[in-house]
Amino acid sequence: MALRFEILGRFNRARAAQLTLPHFVCQTPLFMPVGTQGTIKGLTTNQLEEIGCQIILGNTYHLELRPTSELIDELGGLHKFMNWPRALLTDSGGFQMVSLLHLADITEEGVTFQSPVDGKPMLLTPEESIQIQNRIGADIIMALDDVVRTTITGPRVEEAMYRTLRWIDRCIAAHKRPNEQNLFGIVQGGLDPVLRDICVKGLVDRNLPGYAIGGLSGGEDKDSFWRVVAQCTAALPEDKPRYVMGVGYPLDIVVCSALGADMYDCVYPTRTARFGTALVPEGVLKLKHKAMADDVRPIDPTCRCMVCKNYTRAYIHCLVTKDAMGSQLLSYHNLYYMMKLSRDLHSSIIQGQFPEFVRKFLRKMVLVLEMALTFVPCIFFINFSLFCFVFCFFFFFTNHELFLVNLDHFFTNAELPTSNCIPFLASWSFHVTKSH
Ligand SMILES: [Zn+2]
Repeated sequence: MALRFEILGRFNRARAAQLTLPHFVCQTPLFMPVGTQGTIKGLTTNQLEEIGCQIILGNTYHLELRPTSELIDELGGLHKFMNWPRALLTDSGGFQMVSLLHLADITEEGVTFQSPVDGKPMLLTPEESIQIQNRIGADIIMALDDVVRTTITGPRVEEAMYRTLRWIDRCIAAHKRPNEQNLFGIVQGGLDPVLRDICVKGLVDRNLPGYAIGGLSGGEDKDSFWRVVAQCTAALPEDKPRYVMGVGYPLDIVVCSALGADMYDCVYPTRTARFGTALVPEGVLKLKHKAMADDVRPIDPTCRCMVCKNYTRAYIHCLVTKDAMGSQLLSYHNLYYMMKLSRDLHSSIIQGQFPEFVRKFLRKMVLVLEMALTFVPCIFFINFSLFCFVFCFFFFFTNHELFLVNLDHFFTNAELPTSNCIPFLASWSFHVTKSH
């Protein structure tokens, strides 16, 4: 085991910890930006340090295609290759194959796919995934798992969960650098609590350095997503880091942290930047919108990042989608926002101010929540759908600057509104975290 995990503070299930990895001492909860070919698009490693990134994610599939793990190994590992002195995590490469390549097929042996280079069939086995990650040399490496979408039900989910457990033993056996790299196992089992439970127990028996909760953020509704996270974090060991994969919406990070998760990764903050969207405390700000054309304010007047100190919305509006500089500035600001969110979560838990922080965050993020909390008793007596629709209508059409797209995520993929997420969220994050 090449890590140390010390819990520095708690609030109910939420914890703030120090995670000591071979290349960096990280403070949790933490968000990890996702890089592809050893880079976070448009940002230098100096900028990433300046922003406060502690650990970044390298994409095994892309790195293996170009420049190849052999070359990275020859040149002294990915840290040296990309000039990144802090921590790194690599994924198994399997997920990319399944999601990017239509012709990927999973068998007991591994993931077979058509090579994007010459079209020949290729096979990624658990052993091979670990060998590649050993050569890349990240602080944390991920086991190859059998991923199925959470929207899939039936025997395939069970098959994938048991296969993930069989593959973890092959990954452990293949891992040649356990004193320098930490192998994390991934909990699968879809939305089935029984399967999730079997998987957690199976992985915990293997006494791994850390555990990830996988297979989420695949189109399931928020209630199911949070329930799975709550179930897994409750069953995973207290003294090991817990990583919720593919989670990057600020609201989800706050909720998952309240439920006892420590680490997150997602392409969302940088991808949305490339589409001209900035993350702000009130939700998101669309810089492409014509209202930005003569707006001389910074993206977020409360943000202290280099971009908000130096550039106006009007300037970024002019660049966005036309010049690479536009998406670079927005990526910088968005990652700064995510790092600040991580730091605020950490310090609020340590200082015993976590509920106040969550309340303040939600009040800004989803103004409707405040209204909902005020009127919680009323919600149960009126048509809830109508209630939400009226407020969404109000925010979308009366405020030209801020499109509170986060409401979409709240109400499950923009389908207005099918779930009573607000009372659910309110009760889970404020009151009943103790009882789970
Ligand atoms: Zn900023």
